[in-house]
Amino acid sequence: MVIYDLICKRNHRFEGWFPSFEGYQEQAARKLISCPTCGTTAVEKIPHACAVHVNKESKKEDIKKEQQHIEKDPSPPLSEAEAKELLLRLHHYVRENFEDVGPRFAEEARQIFHGKVKSRPIHGTSTSEERQELDEEDIPYAIIPKPDLDS
Ligand SMILES: [Zn+2]
Repeated sequence: MVIYDLICKRNHRFEGWFPSFEGYQEQAARKLISCPTCGTTAVEKIPHACAVHVNKESKKEDIKKEQQHIEKDPSPPLSEAEAKELLLRLHHYVRENFEDVGPRFAEEARQIFHGKVKSRPIHGTSTSEERQELDEEDIPYAIIPKPDLDS
């Protein structure tokens, strides 16, 4: 399960839950995603996802545990407040333990993957194009939905 921040052409922001990135793409292509506020299907994914690169030795298990809280299919479903709480905890964890490389995330992840710089956990932002390149190069990373901290 993945959560994406979406925005409609009238600038309404909302979250969409999808089984996978492919699931999102398919629904987007078939115009099945509509804005809950105004109903338009002119909806886009907000390009700034927060992402982390996790190397084998480091805190992989910890971050996995945190992610499972968010990714598992909850039954009964989490309330919005509970989901937000978990997301905030995950972000707090990342901020404490991961170096912030900002928009250089994709480049930095690639350098680490190829052993060109010291291996360390990082987080930052990336565009969907950059993430597609990382996917093509089999460079591991995780997408974390960004909590609505700025509103
Ligand atoms: Zn709207």
